[in-house]
Amino acid sequence: MDEAARTKTPSGVVDVLVPVALNQAYSYRVPRGLDLQPGDVVSVPLGAREVIGVVWAENENPDPRLHNRLKEVGEKFDVPPLKQELRSLVDWVANYTLSARGMVMKMTLRMGEHLGPERVRMGVRLVGEVPKRMTSARARLIEILSDGLLHAKSEAAKEAGVSGGVIDGLVDEGTLAIEAMPRALPPPAPDPTFAEPDFSDDQAVAAEAMRTFAAKGDFHAALLDGVTGSGKTEVYFEAVAEVIKRGEQVLILMPEIALTGQFLERFSKRFGVRPLEWHSELTPRTRARNWASIANGEAHVIVGARSALFLPYAKLGLIIVDEEHDQAYKQDEGAHYHARDMAVVRASIARIPIVLASATPSVESEVNARKGRYQRIALPSRFGGQHMPHIEVIDLRREGPMRGRFIAPRLAEKIQIAIERKEQALLFLNRRGYAPLTLCRGCGHRFACTICDAWLVDHRFRQRLVCHHCGFSMHRPQQCPHCQAEESLVAVGPGVERLQEEAASLFPDARTMVLSSDLITSIDAMRTELAEIAEGRVDVIIGTQLVAKGHNFPRLNLVGVIDADLGLGNGDPRAAERTYQMLNQVIGRAGREQGRGVGYLQTHQPEHPVMKALIANDREAFYASEIEARERAGYPPFGRLASLIISGGDRPTTEGYARKLAAVAPIDERIMVLGPAEAPLAVIKGRYRFRLLVKSARNVDLSHYLRDWLAHGPKATGNLKLEVDVDPQSFL
Ligand code: ADP
Ligand code: ZN
Repeated sequence: MDEAARTKTPSGVVDVLVPVALNQAYSYRVPRGLDLQPGDVVSVPLGAREVIGVVWAENENPDPRLHNRLKEVGEKFDVPPLKQELRSLVDWVANYTLSARGMVMKMTLRMGEHLGPERVRMGVRLVGEVPKRMTSARARLIEILSDGLLHAKSEAAKEAGVSGGVIDGLVDEGTLAIEAMPRALPPPAPDPTFAEPDFSDDQAVAAEAMRTFAAKGDFHAALLDGVTGSGKTEVYFEAVAEVIKRGEQVLILMPEIALTGQFLERFSKRFGVRPLEWHSELTPRTRARNWASIANGEAHVIVGARSALFLPYAKLGLIIVDEEHDQAYKQDEGAHYHARDMAVVRASIARIPIVLASATPSVESEVNARKGRYQRIALPSRFGGQHMPHIEVIDLRREGPMRGRFIAPRLAEKIQIAIERKEQALLFLNRRGYAPLTLCRGCGHRFACTICDAWLVDHRFRQRLVCHHCGFSMHRPQQCPHCQAEESLVAVGPGVERLQEEAASLFPDARTMVLSSDLITSIDAMRTELAEIAEGRVDVIIGTQLVAKGHNFPRLNLVGVIDADLGLGNGDPRAAERTYQMLNQVIGRAGREQGRGVGYLQTHQPEHPVMKALIANDREAFYASEIEARERAGYPPFGRLASLIISGGDRPTTEGYARKLAAVAPIDERIMVLGPAEAPLAVIKGRYRFRLLVKSARNVDLSHYLRDWLAHGPKATGNLKLEVDVDPQSFL
């Protein structure tokens, strides 16, 4: 048989998907002798560039007239091919979110430049006689190598303080020999029996349910529904153990890498080794190495942010989505996908189990559990018999702080007592910076971003006024740029930095710390700060949502929510759900080890259903009223939503385009197209924004409807831009 007949691509043409904003794969000729199959990672010419792509399919009927015009595939990389399962996920996500397939595929290849096997490192060993001509450099080197072992060449040179040339000279003389260093050993496997915990009765039941669940190898979903501090992590580790025993991989998704610090420790206490990490801050080298060990199956457990969902796992056996309700799972740039929902899709394509864990499940998952589509595994009480925090309301209409202050007198009193008892207090305010607005007392001038429809936020630590939408910043001036008055600028409203100032003046002997994403320079710095809090080296923590989730601070018993109403009433259909989840999570940080946690909610509307459900610790009441309201309004999960965001450099053109687009929406009695309306964030980076909201019944294929509409509608030309967001989480 000749070479061509043996290849798996008898037509000699393959369709290769390239990582650019395109849906279709391009055809390339297969060079003689190269054996290609779908999933292979290859390099191909694209215009003047050479790019990495993936063989998506064999082109069985290439047009013979084009044959000679097709370009040839370059090389095939020595990495495992992307499995059918992952390629189907890419197709599915692209189709569902109306994103370019090439861009979705790109997320599977995030291994940086270091494609292919790791470079072999060279070592040096002492093998022969000491040379006739000795120098002090040679002597130092020989001394270091006198143990006869293989040393890395670069390290031996560094240790001896000599150049590589000294080594090469001795190799020429036969004193030393160069050999390849053995490849670093793969990381040791987690040991499922390393330290099995003693479970409480409740936990033991849930743990058993988890093991049985994970042992059934087909697609099915469980909602691990446990109050804060109930030990959800310990319990789902049982499912992890089960799957490791089978020799399959586990992916644990986390909404924020900030959460992973304590998690890594707990994992290694339970399994004896750390899991592999995947997130945006890995160095290129680590990223490449981790990608390779995920693809070749050496990595057993991977903990990662949402992008870890698209990696080429060799044998994925289980997905866990921790804090499944968290909105950080939604990506709002590029492909607008929800990692929790797409994780369920991946599990179903791969026919594997998936666990969604939360103390405050999303309404979607709660409904799925109520309807029996998800198995509910519940942990109704805290571990160790600890009570849930007691929640009290501070009615700001009656007992608020004085003007310009934000901590009510009663809350201040309780914090003082906590400090005296050597306990910690956490003040929660989901607002970065010092103050959300700066104005001139003299003329009323307000500092706004010049290119966004937004006020500039005062960041005192950095001495700058900053736009949170485009990043524009300016030095905080001494005088008003409008009326030139001196010393006339005042801060309006609180941010965490201002709260710290107030806490420091109220509690002069306490150690305070602000935790806010903008003040953190690296993940390591953040992990260090979180560890300091956990060790009790801070008395009053002031934080944004960064501190709300997942952390375990043993000495923390008091949580004060400075503005419980902040997330409500902005017209967002998910406002109530989000506020409930956020406040529940943050108050859930209190009393985890000593069981006398108290949460104080400063609010102007204590009669709001969210506040009432929180105060009564009545989650049933919250879900019942929220589910009922969604059903009545036809909102998800009882109906479906998609947003079209239209933006452009001038207002009339942008609005005109949005209107034309709306006017050609196909008529369908199950679908309603609302708008266009000016977006709540009407201008970002100098671009005017309009929104269309598409609302449909639950059983409608909304993606199909949108694609059909957009294919026939007017195109966004010039600097107009159209973004599609299926299942939007943000309505700004
Ligand atoms: P959740 O995620 O449900 O809020 P965690 O999993 O963080 O709860 O558990 C709360 C705390 O209780 C953690 O410090 C955890 O290590 C501890 N814990 C939970 N279950 C056990 C157990 N069976 N044995 C020992 N410690 C446990
Ligand atoms: Zn701006």
